[in-house]
Amino acid sequence: MSTPSTPKDRLRLAIQKSGRLSTDSLDLLKNCGIKVKAPKEKLLLHSENFPIDILFVRDDDIPRLVMDGVCDLGIVGTNVLEETALERRNNGAVNGYVMERPLDFGGCRLALAIPEERPFKNLRDLEGLRIATSYPHLTGRYLAEQKITAEVVTLSGSVEIAPRLGLADAICDLVSSGSTLEANKLRAVETIFKSTAVLIRNTRDFTAEKTHALEIMLRRIDGVQRAAEAKYIMLHAPKASLDLIKKLLPGSENPTVLPLAGDDTKVALHAVCSEAVFWETMESLKKAGASSILVLPIEKMML
Ligand code: ATP
Ligand code: ZN
Repeated sequence: MSTPSTPKDRLRLAIQKSGRLSTDSLDLLKNCGIKVKAPKEKLLLHSENFPIDILFVRDDDIPRLVMDGVCDLGIVGTNVLEETALERRNNGAVNGYVMERPLDFGGCRLALAIPEERPFKNLRDLEGLRIATSYPHLTGRYLAEQKITAEVVTLSGSVEIAPRLGLADAICDLVSSGSTLEANKLRAVETIFKSTAVLIRNTRDFTAEKTHALEIMLRRIDGVQRAAEAKYIMLHAPKASLDLIKKLLPGSENPTVLPLAGDDTKVALHAVCSEAVFWETMESLKKAGASSILVLPIEKMML
């Protein structure tokens, strides 16, 4: 990989230029050891230490850029990805993408919301309503699955004000904390789609160089994501309660047990926990006799 690569040997990855996925997408690359200078006004940046070029675009354009083969890879929310895929399917276009990895950021949900004062018992109450959304295909699919006949009004933004303007009776929009809904006197009544960011690639054949670079990148992404949750735990345990303490460690296999100098009633235990270690777990460990409990972050992990 140290030899200079020609553009056809370099991966091209589309990420969001500015918005909720931008920082996390750039951080992921950074944590994978892929250096890219922060985007200024440039549309395309070349990594100086990895055969990859980054294209900065609006998130809505990412699925199309990948599916049409303009970019090899893209990082985008499944909300936008699935909406585009449905739209293209309806238009008879060939989709052409492979979901390579779910990513641990960009979590949000697409929810149906109605004005606070509107009575709501169940989904049947949506029958015959006008529903404003920027996701007409996802919304339409959900309504069809639920056998609800409603009119879908497509808006490209400011969906949450549509009921107040008399443009719609309900909305279907992205919700994270719910504060935007509250500010607009709306309440979520049903989640129709849960979204996270994903890394996608197109279905075209890659050159051997690109295939190799992608393999390395995926291995690093796996390592970064595994390490994000995982913790290294060290503690002292009475020999008598070792089995109980091992059982309390979340997602750990084969911890290392070491003798403790000057104390044969106790051992030191070191383990990688693949799941988060909460205060409650530490308290249970203490109750089981553990002492000097240290929980350390893991920066990188390769199994
Ligand atoms: P663009 O100018 O790129 O079109 P945008 O206004 O469509 O930006 P953002 O609000 O930045 O988009 O959201 C981009 C994506 O981030 C959404 O499509 C969704 O996948 C994800 N997202 C939305 N809300 C949240 C949230 N609260 N937390 C994390 N991710 C979110
Ligand atoms: Zn967008």
